[in-house]
Amino acid sequence: MNKKKILMLTLTVLVLMSGCLPATDGDSAKSTDSEELVSAGESQVLPAESSDECKTAEQVEVCFFDVGQGDCILISTPAGKHILIDSGTLESKDKVMGFLSNKGVKEIEYAFFTHPHADHIGAADEIINRLDVKNVYMPDAAATTMVFERLLEALESKESVNVVKAHAGQIIELDSLIFEILSPIKNDYYELNQFSIVIKMTHGENVFLFMGDATTENEEEMQNAGMELDADIIKVGHHGSAGSTSVDFLDAVTPKIAVISVGANNDYSHPADSIIEKLNDIKTYRTDIDGTIIVYSGGIHSLEVSSIKPDFSD
Ligand SMILES: [Zn+2]
Repeated sequence: MNKKKILMLTLTVLVLMSGCLPATDGDSAKSTDSEELVSAGESQVLPAESSDECKTAEQVEVCFFDVGQGDCILISTPAGKHILIDSGTLESKDKVMGFLSNKGVKEIEYAFFTHPHADHIGAADEIINRLDVKNVYMPDAAATTMVFERLLEALESKESVNVVKAHAGQIIELDSLIFEILSPIKNDYYELNQFSIVIKMTHGENVFLFMGDATTENEEEMQNAGMELDADIIKVGHHGSAGSTSVDFLDAVTPKIAVISVGANNDYSHPADSIIEKLNDIKTYRTDIDGTIIVYSGGIHSLEVSSIKPDFSD
């Protein structure tokens, strides 16, 4: 997408305290606040009503669930199909299952477990055991942890699940969405984060980039491979760690919106100050501050964001 097109894009960002997602574990909807990021056309205020009424029939909904220090993203198509990217932490397992239940998710077409760290596969075993998961994409990497063992056991016990080793170049089309796997490019890396599945999702004119915990080395590989990286929204790599999101990479992506999935007061000091500085000119949402973040993509000229802030009084 060239710069002109980006300028023409009607990008309306609304931060509202809507009832779009049923409140769980202290999440609550208390007040309404809306903010317009870029508006080259008409803006739209979402109704603060029930979940089903927030997403229109043509919209794709992308939920960045607030799972503390981890990742869990649910994408729902207009036809009611669901795609999951990661499954939160061990500690947030019940919360993740509650989120999915509240969203009425019984089937998952594609589950991407970006890499086998516990903050990405915390609820993976339970999701596979309890829901009808059709395809699971994982990198060719293993961890010697109980949580990873439980994921493998769940996959073994559910023979109906199609398990695919993820690598760059794979393309999946589902309803109006195209998913391209951009990384891992190599077969071998020296740390698990580098095996992260990086997914570019295209919905009409809107492009999302989900980075998992990919590092600057992965970013360089993608750039060197000549990949088209321009995107409207980036899920920032590795919870905003300084080891991801190089200036060069950010210049190639030129996102309008950044989402950081991160836990409040985490042990890793994520996100790094240097990353927040780099994102200075980009509208940035953080799950530790904004709670669960929901993006509605109309496919053409519209992206809306709402968030359900955590209730800090708890
Ligand atoms: Zn992580």
